[in-house]
Amino acid sequence: MRRTINPFVEDIIRRGILKTPSIIEAFKSVDRANFVREKALAYIDEPLSIGEGQTISQPTTVAFMLELLQPEAGNKVFEIGFGSGWQTAILAYIVSQNGIQKSKIKNQNLGKVYAVERIKELFEWGTTNIAKYNFIKKGIVEVICGDATKGLAEHAPYDRIIAAAAGASVPESWLKELKVGGRLVTPVGGSIWLYIKRSRDKFDKKEYKGFLFVSLISDES
Ligand code: SAH
Repeated sequence: MRRTINPFVEDIIRRGILKTPSIIEAFKSVDRANFVREKALAYIDEPLSIGEGQTISQPTTVAFMLELLQPEAGNKVFEIGFGSGWQTAILAYIVSQNGIQKSKIKNQNLGKVYAVERIKELFEWGTTNIAKYNFIKKGIVEVICGDATKGLAEHAPYDRIIAAAAGASVPESWLKELKVGGRLVTPVGGSIWLYIKRSRDKFDKKEYKGFLFVSLISDES
């Protein structure tokens, strides 16, 4: 895969939003042009239509959410609403330490991203996009088509949980399936919330206002 530096990265760093070296490295390595319908628009710092009434998130928003999430090498991640698959590939890059694994670390825990998407057409298109980076073949990403509001009990608990669609509240299943010490980042209405699990039923929570997300749709609603 040709290595491209998404030109918006430098600006997001300059604005103080992207800070963590491993996240910056992943942002520079996973070309957004591989995850959009219209390549000419790939490097605009805006959400773009990906069909089915959904959007690939704005780079600045993805950066902001990943900085809150703080994914680490070896983490097991549950991602809700993978859409284009761009954020999935960035997460896969980070949890598998793609930047250094070739030279320094062999046989270490590669980490895993369980990525769920409920719309079949997007599930298929997003899967094809993620496959461009071989993350599925390497076993770093597993894609699942379905309603993630139910949680993903079969692979729980998770070190990190991140959602890209906003419901009216955080599904109980996600809170339950997060490891103690783990971090969950999700939109609720027009805000992004960070939850850090302190014990089985105790969370530190922080709200960041002023965002716009597509709706989290449950099969039950
Ligand atoms: N991170 C993606 C965001 C896509 S928009 C990207 O940047 O491309 C949010 C996605 O969440 C949509 O594709 C939508 O179909 C999906 N979604 C909404 N409700 C869902 C649910 N209950 N389970 C799984 N995916 C859901």
